[in-house]
Amino acid sequence: IFKVKMCAVLMLLGQLERMNGEAMVRDVETARQITAKIFHLIQTQEKSGKEVMSKGSSGMEVILASLEVFTILRFSLSHLMLFYCYLSLGRGRRVGVFVSKGGTGILFQILITAIKELPPSEELMLQLHSLLAKVGPKDRKFGVKARLSGALNITVNLIKQNLQNTKLLLPCLQVLRVYSTNSVNAISLGKNGVVELMFKIVTPYSKKNTSLLKVALDALGALLKSKTNARRAVDGGHVPVLLALYQDWHRNDTRHRHMLIRKGLLVCLRNITNIKLGRKAFLDADGMRILYNSSTECLPVRTLDPLVNTSSLIMRKCFPKNRLPLPTIKSAFQYQLPHVPAVGPVAQLYSQPPGVDDVVDESDDNEETDADTENDTENDEDEKDQRSNDDIETDLNKLHPKKNPGRPFEELRVYERFFLELSEDFQVSNFSASTTSSSFSSSSTSTRSTRPIIVPTAQALSPKLVPKSGQHTLPSPSVHIQSPLLLGGIATRRVGGGGSNWGSDCGSEGAEDEGGEGAVLEVPDTALLLPLHDPDLYVEMVKGTHSVPQYAEVAYPDYFGHVAPTFREPLQERVYGVQRSKIFQDTERLIHPNDIVDKVVYDLDIPSCPVIEDDGESLKFNSQFESGNLRKAVQIRKYEYDLVLNSDINSNHYHQWFYFEVSGMRVGTTYRFNIINSEKSNSQFNYGMQVLMYSVQEAISGRPRWVRTGTDICYYKNHFARSSIAAGGQKGKSYYTMTFSTSFSHKDDVCYFAYHYPYTYSTLKMHLSKLEALRTPQIYLRQDVLCKTLGGNGCPLLTITAMPESNSNDHICQFRNRPLIFLSARVHPGETNASWVMKGTLEFLMSTSPLAASLREAYIFKIIPMLNPDGVVNGNHRCSLSGEDLNRQWQNPNPELHPTIYHTKSLLQYLAHIQRAPLVFCDYHGHSRKKNVFMYGCSVKETVWQSNISATSSDLQEDLGYRALPKILSQIAPAFSMASCSFVVERSKESTARVVVWREIGVQCSYTMESTLCGCDQGKYKGLQIGTRELEEMGAQFCVALLRLKRLTGLRNHQHLLDLESDIIGTQAKVVSSSPTTYVMEEDEPPFLEPIDYSAESNDEDAEPENEHALARAANSRHRRSLT
Ligand SMILES: [Zn+2]
Repeated sequence: IFKVKMCAVLMLLGQLERMNGEAMVRDVETARQITAKIFHLIQTQEKSGKEVMSKGSSGMEVILASLEVFTILRFSLSHLMLFYCYLSLGRGRRVGVFVSKGGTGILFQILITAIKELPPSEELMLQLHSLLAKVGPKDRKFGVKARLSGALNITVNLIKQNLQNTKLLLPCLQVLRVYSTNSVNAISLGKNGVVELMFKIVTPYSKKNTSLLKVALDALGALLKSKTNARRAVDGGHVPVLLALYQDWHRNDTRHRHMLIRKGLLVCLRNITNIKLGRKAFLDADGMRILYNSSTECLPVRTLDPLVNTSSLIMRKCFPKNRLPLPTIKSAFQYQLPHVPAVGPVAQLYSQPPGVDDVVDESDDNEETDADTENDTENDEDEKDQRSNDDIETDLNKLHPKKNPGRPFEELRVYERFFLELSEDFQVSNFSASTTSSSFSSSSTSTRSTRPIIVPTAQALSPKLVPKSGQHTLPSPSVHIQSPLLLGGIATRRVGGGGSNWGSDCGSEGAEDEGGEGAVLEVPDTALLLPLHDPDLYVEMVKGTHSVPQYAEVAYPDYFGHVAPTFREPLQERVYGVQRSKIFQDTERLIHPNDIVDKVVYDLDIPSCPVIEDDGESLKFNSQFESGNLRKAVQIRKYEYDLVLNSDINSNHYHQWFYFEVSGMRVGTTYRFNIINSEKSNSQFNYGMQVLMYSVQEAISGRPRWVRTGTDICYYKNHFARSSIAAGGQKGKSYYTMTFSTSFSHKDDVCYFAYHYPYTYSTLKMHLSKLEALRTPQIYLRQDVLCKTLGGNGCPLLTITAMPESNSNDHICQFRNRPLIFLSARVHPGETNASWVMKGTLEFLMSTSPLAASLREAYIFKIIPMLNPDGVVNGNHRCSLSGEDLNRQWQNPNPELHPTIYHTKSLLQYLAHIQRAPLVFCDYHGHSRKKNVFMYGCSVKETVWQSNISATSSDLQEDLGYRALPKILSQIAPAFSMASCSFVVERSKESTARVVVWREIGVQCSYTMESTLCGCDQGKYKGLQIGTRELEEMGAQFCVALLRLKRLTGLRNHQHLLDLESDIIGTQAKVVSSSPTTYVMEEDEPPFLEPIDYSAESNDEDAEPENEHALARAANSRHRRSLT
């Protein structure tokens, strides 16, 4: 039977085709009948339908052709109805085919032909628009076709003439809704009065015609996306109307049957408030209060979430922009540069005339032109394909590494003294004792006994107060008093100065009264847990550290040390609605202004007295210690504080890093803290990362440690205006708020909060000094000072290898010829995790394990553990004192402004000159946006593959050795993820250590190693936040991997290497098949349940966010978020 029917369909199709072919079709009725038969067969027999639509069949074309012929002649309504039924079947696929065969155009033709007959048949119009409404959403060019064919106006006129005729009005509005999604149409429809027309249809609450209203609102919402139309609506006084309508529906729709209508009204408001005039009209109409109140009432009903979310979005947008509570966005600390660069952001900063208000500008005023650009593209999709890869280096000359020693050898010869191991003959010197040319542990290297750590308070000299003149009184271990009282003493003394000579000049009231005389805290000895930590030595080191603010205090966590907790710290699960509730609380500042305390409690811009004394109703803040960063604290409500971070010195932005102290807290109360001037557009704080807290009370009780803490954490765009001066010229930008809540469990505690585990420059010096003590006769360890920084701090350079077995020629020769490994870290001060990884590396290298011994025998390690000591000391996030990102200066470092980079590069150039370029170069970094640990390397091949540039096969000759180290790491280090690695050379990274060392020094294995600040989503630590134990382990595993690398290369042509190569080839195949998994990361986070307004700006860690070009580039290449 089926076959018979199939034959019938095909036969009829043939008949129809012949008829279409005839010049004059007389028998319209016959054609109609044939078509009707076809449709009937198709409807009753699903497989015939498939046959008509199947590939190679011309069935659809024939039917369409017949439609077209009928267009010329009088068209039959029943024919259309049949067609409508036909298209309604089959889950949209038929519509798709209909569209692809040009059906839309034919329908428009029919519409135009039909309208010429006066009066047009209402029934025909109804049918045609029903068909168009069905087809429209499937046709990407629907809007354009409608406009070009003239159908747009036909529909509009029909609507105008039939406002009361709901039966015809509905399909017409449905079609209009599709027309309006095209931006050019929206403008033209607006000119034709369609916005006003829609407002005539939109009515107060009524149970009648709700579907009509819904469609009209959708169309209106789409029209209002055009700024001209939004302006029209504002000028027509429709904003209060929409608000009143929304309130009306909100009140009357008690059973929430018409959520979509309410949503439709909000969408109209949302689009109108995209323009400044709209926001003003919204505020004038008391929109904030109306939406706030209605949303609060909607909150308990989960199904109304879309209304709450849209309302919250509108309220955030309309929230009047506030000024950051600062006199200037330039750093609160002044440091005069020896010379100012001729161009660039620092030059701009210095050339800014005095008296310019850089905190706000007129940016909000000329944010938009409020006019549509008429050349809106019809189709955004087309552009997307071209955008992605424009940051990839495509110049093959630049891609091919060419050793370029740069400076004449005569100049480089001075660096010989940093490579004594390459010439040492061990003939004269005491063989067993290696040298220490200029150790950092100059004075007190005395090993600590296991006596308790004593923290004196009040009258006794506080370890927190470091004598500026170098005199040092040891704390006197006298009276041991239980802690709570004493901590109060510490807090008070710290504020008041306690009568000692080293207090701040802020007044001294309270110290004697509360502190207790000679009160002494006993702190459990951590020497066993932290063998490489020594509080006294730490204080010694602090004295030799030069900070711009000339700090005289020591933070307790750095003094006591940190013992990694033994419990697991899982990534925090994000609670649904957190962000929304925080935004509501922010909105309440505007709705209930009388509830706002608005009291400044800490202010670094008053240098003499940043801590503002009060009646005990507020928390006390402090950040005046090494690596501290908190500029200002404002009490907003009784238990809520806005915190402002300080810009990097000689800069007016770069803040993310924070480290500050809090005291005067109440036990059991939940406090909310908001860091209100964050700059990045997204943060791992939205994806499970918590802040770090250190409690002095806990430390005294034997638990000296940083712990992940904080609930209700989220990160979102706020209402503080960001001046275009700080946003690279971009106007109308906002800052972001990082908010967290926490409670305190101890009375009279002193607590510290930090972005990540602090690791100060003084900590490094203490650590290096303790490492010195680990040296055995077999270890060759030398510590040099590479150079002084701008701030007067020494930049340590370590050399670690094994002593030669004997002073025989062979052994000395082996010693000198070991390949070099060159490591560095902490060029970015805010990436403290890099220092913890480096700590792990250093301790492994100095350990007595046989692996470590083999490693020392295999290589000479040259290590610069802190490339940016000044940045670290002064609490910068990214820059050095020069106000520049040092990891963007490698191409042409200035000896005066970037001494550590200049001299590090010179070391490498010297090595290249003497043919001893390192085997591996690796710069340790931290990554704020991704999870796990991973590497960036340099590969011509992979760059070429990514960029679509044409290259000859000779350009693609490349040794795959650069993949070996990360591959090994992914096998042995649990936190390491090969999938996150990238080996593409980007233009924006051309002046980073990795690219310059690869290109100019010719080191094939030149890497950046990035460690997450947040946690892992794979491997053994999946689901956990990263801690110092895991970071240190990573540093040790890096060493183990180098040893394995040595063995693999030593076994050249043996099975091991072949295995490795097949691994590599396996991965490579993936790359070739353009699978993005190998080194291109898409968004590595799941989408939120609630909408987050993250704007288009990218937040590439290392793309300078203030550089417009970088921004555009980054926004255009979001999938290649490779950071250095
Ligand atoms: Zn970095």
